[in-house]
Formats: sequence, C-alpha cells, structure tokens
Amino acid sequence: MNRGYMGKILNVNLGTGAIAEEVIPDELYENYLAGMGLAAFLLYNRIPAGADPLGPDNILGFLPGLLTGTGSFFTGRWMVAGKSPLTGGWGDANCGGQFAPAIKRCGYDGIFFKGISPKPVYLFVRNGKAELRDASGLWGKDAVETENMLLRESGKNARVACIGPAGEKLSFISGISTDRGRLAARSGLGAVMGAKKLKAVVLSGAKRIPVSNPQEMKKLSKACNKWVQFQPPFVSGPMTAKVGALLRIMPTQMAQDGMLFKIILRKWGTACMNQMSIEMGDSPIKNWTGSNKDFGVEKSRATNPDAIIERETIKYHCYSCPLGCGGICTMKGEYTETHKPEYETVLALGGLCMNDDVESLFQMNEILNRAGMDTISAGSTVAFVIECYEKGIITKEDTGGLELKWGNSVAMKELVKKMIAREGIGDLLADGSKFAAERIGRNAIQCAMHAGGQDLPMHDSRNDPGYALHYSVEPTPGRHTIGAQLYYEMYQLWRRVKGIPKPKLFYHKNVKYDPADKATRAAACSKFMNVVNGAGLCMFSAFIGVHRLPIFEWLNAATGWNKTPNDYMETGARIQTLRQAFNIKHGLTPKSFVVPDRVLGREPLVEGANKGRSVAIEPMMRDYWRLFGWDEGTGVPKAESMQQLGIEAK
Ligand code: SF4
Repeated sequence: MNRGYMGKILNVNLGTGAIAEEVIPDELYENYLAGMGLAAFLLYNRIPAGADPLGPDNILGFLPGLLTGTGSFFTGRWMVAGKSPLTGGWGDANCGGQFAPAIKRCGYDGIFFKGISPKPVYLFVRNGKAELRDASGLWGKDAVETENMLLRESGKNARVACIGPAGEKLSFISGISTDRGRLAARSGLGAVMGAKKLKAVVLSGAKRIPVSNPQEMKKLSKACNKWVQFQPPFVSGPMTAKVGALLRIMPTQMAQDGMLFKIILRKWGTACMNQMSIEMGDSPIKNWTGSNKDFGVEKSRATNPDAIIERETIKYHCYSCPLGCGGICTMKGEYTETHKPEYETVLALGGLCMNDDVESLFQMNEILNRAGMDTISAGSTVAFVIECYEKGIITKEDTGGLELKWGNSVAMKELVKKMIAREGIGDLLADGSKFAAERIGRNAIQCAMHAGGQDLPMHDSRNDPGYALHYSVEPTPGRHTIGAQLYYEMYQLWRRVKGIPKPKLFYHKNVKYDPADKATRAAACSKFMNVVNGAGLCMFSAFIGVHRLPIFEWLNAATGWNKTPNDYMETGARIQTLRQAFNIKHGLTPKSFVVPDRVLGREPLVEGANKGRSVAIEPMMRDYWRLFGWDEGTGVPKAESMQQLGIEAK
C-alpha cells in the first residue's frame, strides 16, 4: 500500500494500560484525509455526548497530516484534538517542529488516549513498540526541563510532546509543547493531558512513508520551491511601520498576493507584522478599546522586526519547510534564551496591555512557553483584568497588592506567574477571561474579549470583518488561522476551484466584503483549511496561493487518487460539518460563539485606523451557515446535508 498514509492508529487506554493498534479503512482517508479529518471522524463517533473534557471518556488524539513525510513541503505541522475544557466543544490545536513525522515514522496516522492513569506516566514508542512509563519524576517540571530529561533517557533522535505546570494544574488555557517550548496552544488541551496524568509522548521511529508516485511528488515540490526561494531584497524593519501607515491612509485597498507576506515572513518570521499591523489597524490595542493613536510607532519601536531579529542567534525551520520562519533569541534577565516571540505573543502581551517594555515580552514568552500556557489567552486575560482594575470591578485587595495598570510590565509578569501557579488571583484567571469574568461577576464580562470561551487572537475584525465571521462560526471558536478577507485573497482558490469568485483588484475599504459573495468566500476558506489541516500543511504555505502550492496535486500524487480541487473542497465541507455536529452533539449553541459588541465596533472607535467602523455579523453568519447546508437561524447542520456528506447523526 503506497498511499502516503500509514493505514493505522494507536489507541492507548490510560485507565487500564491497554495499548492496541487499529487498522483504518482506505475509505476513511478518501472521505476525511488524515489530521483534522481523521480526528473529527473518530472523536465525533467515539466521545460520548456530554463527556467531561477532564474525565476518562474524553479522547485526546495526536495526529500528523496525510502529506507528512511524503516529499511535499511544509508538512511539519502536527495537531492535537479532543473535547475542549475551554469551550465545552470541539477542540484542536496545531504546532510545527519535528513531532509530526515522528508519529508517522512510528507507523501511525494518529495516537489516541482515553481513560485516566492512576499515576503520572508518559508513552514511549519506538518503531511500533509502545509502553507506558512512570513519569512521577517529571511531574512538576517545566516543558523545557521535561523534554531535556526525556531526551537524555530516550536518545537525541526521539521527539517529545509534553505539558508543563499549566497543564498539570488543569488550566483551561494550557497547551502542549514540543521542541522545548513551541506550543499547540489553543483550546486548553494541555489540561486534558494533565487530567489524564499523561505528562508526555516520546516517539522514536524510522518507518518508511510510502507514496504512490514519488517522481511526481519530486517534480511538484521542485516547482513549489522555486516560489519559496524567490527572495528579492526588501524594505528595512522600520519601513514595515510605514507600509502599515500607508495601508491605513489609502481610501482603497488592493487585493493582496501572499508572495509579499512570504518574503517578509522568511526574512523576519511573524515579527514582520509587529508594527505594520498596529499601524494598519489589524492589531487590537488596549483590550480592543484603543488604536494606533494610543500605541503608536514610538511605543512599538522596540518590537520592530529588525530589533527582534537582532537578538536572533539561531534561525530554524520546521520539518520539510523550505521557508523557515522560526528562531532562537537571546535576552537579559531571569531567562537568557527563548523562541523568537510570535506576532500574536508580542501583541497580546504588548499593545493589548499597553506594554512597551520589550524585555518583559521576551521574559513572559519564555515563562509561558515553559509553563505550557497559551500566550494569546494569557495576554488577553491580563488585558481583561487590567481593564477590570481600571473600572474598579476588582481592587488591589483582590490582586494581592499588584498595581494592575496599563503597561505595568512588572505587575504583568508577576500576574502571569500567579496564573501558572494558580496562586491568589492567578487561580481565578488561569482559565481565561470568560471563566474569570463569571467568577468575578459585577459585569466583568463586558471586559472579556472571547468567542465561546476562547480569548480572541490579535487580528481586529473592524479592519477585516472576515476575522469576526470566522471567530464566530468556526467549530473551534476564536480562531484566526482559517479565513479572513485577506486570507481569501492570498489563497487564490479561484485559480483551481470552480465556482468561487475572484476578488476585484481594488475595492473601497468600507466595502470589505461584497455582500453578494461574502459568505461564499468565508465558506471556501473554511473548507480549504480543513484540507490543509487534513494534509498537515502549515497555514503560511497556503498564503502563497494554490497555483504555487500544489496541495491538491500533492495529495493525488501521494495517494494515487484522481480527485479534483472541487472534490477536495467537498471533503473540507464534510470535515467542517462533522466538527460542527460534534459541538451540537455536546450541547453547544453555535450562536453563542458570536464575538462581543466591542469587537464588532458597536460603539465604533472614535479615532485611529478603525475609526467609525463596525461589522454587521448576523447576516454573514446566516449566509455562511446556509451555504454549508446548516440551519441559517441556528447553525445546526440539517439532516439532509449530513446525509449527503455521508455523516451519521449521533
Ligand atoms: S513557515 Fe514557519 S511555522 Fe510554517 S512550517 Fe515553515 S518554519 Fe514552520
């Protein structure tokens, strides 16, 4: 069988210690791919309705993609999926590094855990031989210490995914770390691992990953690489802020080609956006109440892309990535080294909290990475509590003496440590802003910027309404890695997929989405990203456009299938519907995911890049649901649509 996938998964029952392989029929891959799709099928069918996310019935899966290790590029992404304690519904998170191929080289398209171990354990797999080992000596260690200890024991070729103290303490905003502090951060799945007393998964395999047409794979990858390597000299770091300001001032916007983003991503990593996004109105400031007027170029200067990469001592690539946006940076203080902070981290702990102390950003990045806590949710929760403090909803008595004022980086760092340790007010905040607001009461919910419990990422929907829509309709709410108007332009799906619109080259800024086809675009982004996540590719690769990234062609060459791009988009629709059905099965109301009024510009901002802008979300949500064959009033998939897609209602 040369089809790019391994054809089996590993099931581990942590309650009984039983470990068993399971063969997955070809038909399942044809209908759902691997990665996101395989996870959706298995978890929808196997997690009982109403299961406690932290209980024995929840199932946690670690999965590579169908294309991982097949000779295609950008396949270093692995994903983890399970029922989320944060949203109470479908949870998934995605991370790069070297872990994805390790799962496949052990012979599996996924490793799934259910039950609860009576004591801390880790799973060790070497070439298809799996065992649970005692992890009592690792419990309490941070993610970097844990990985170092496990590598000493298992050999440097092993790959490790583990939790830090945040996951052990069941924080709903905890993630799972690989490569010493890179996190699959969202959905709170670190807490699921913590509840299962599963400290780590350690993999060491050397199995071959067979493909149907290796020559074609090589040819496609060579052509793709030509685009990735295209790297003209580009503007300096400080110029990025000027480009952002220009984009703000222009009355019209130009449909963007993702090659521009690829070029700056390759040069700086996601730090390329640090200043540009603030200047153009893409970054929410001061817990979504401020703008570039409050946090201008002087305040963001220290996070300029050039300033960030001046500290970079090592540049790194994920597995099979010809681009390489990651890096290791040096810093002063408690820790002296950290992964290059991502744009999301810099803004969540920076502009969102009005913090311009760059050293504190680097330190908090490392503190949170080691703890295994999501930097987006942590930053958003800190911004939430600062606003509560400013409004008198909480006082210095509640904070244990911390002066929680905008930009007080010393207090912020202390607060983050308290959240990780669940100490004092940190215990109240350790599950994100929505849960904190419910615990505080006194209308604190007005300060919590979340969707369905998930703190919102650092992309302002008043600048691009597509973000508001995807934050509100995705089965994993509050997600920024699926679609937006900008993403639709960059994916360039109309070049391969029949029946979807090509955007105009120029359009007026205040007509961000053409009402006639806004939902079509958003639905196309959702379907496509399920294919990307089923294949196991990095989202950034998709930005160069499907005429340069041969994802559909790679899938056919790896598997021997002969599917059209439209066939793959239908697979994407099937996965999306199944994830939505998972939420319905577990009693969630899709409408409740809608983002807060502030995020929609109700009241609009009175100054700055997004002055006067608001988003009419309700018609967009209705159109989106209707296009998927879901009830347009409730977002519940209709029986006939499920049937058409071959999904059995549970
Ligand atoms: S673009 Fe960056 S995040 Fe994506 S696979 Fe390459 S190195 Fe990893």
